[in-house]
Amino acid sequence: MTGSIRDMLLKHPYGGPDFGGCECGQIIGGGQDVWADHLAPIIADATAPRTITTAEELDALPDGSVVLDRQHDVAEKHSGRLLYRETRNMPLEYLAKHYGPFTVLHEGARNE
Ligand SMILES: [Zn+2]
Repeated sequence: MTGSIRDMLLKHPYGGPDFGGCECGQIIGGGQDVWADHLAPIIADATAPRTITTAEELDALPDGSVVLDRQHDVAEKHSGRLLYRETRNMPLEYLAKHYGPFTVLHEGARNE
């Protein structure tokens, strides 16, 4: 996450158009307040929890990922299934339809 935030911030270097703004062109003039107002939503978007709504997205999550469903129950991805502590296995399509959206609390490592 830190690396991706850094990469994202590097897309918004100070000293852009007319030296008083950002390279993305969204600020012209202003001081630290204007700069903070520009960067705050960019950082908030980059750090916001990821939301999953479809079975395909659930399927693409790596094993070891942990999600929170709309009932605030936690499930872990394991062997391609979404496992709840107290519930029997259900197909991802069923879970996506009845328990989504899911908030990704932790994304498992991808074996690439
Ligand atoms: Zn910018």
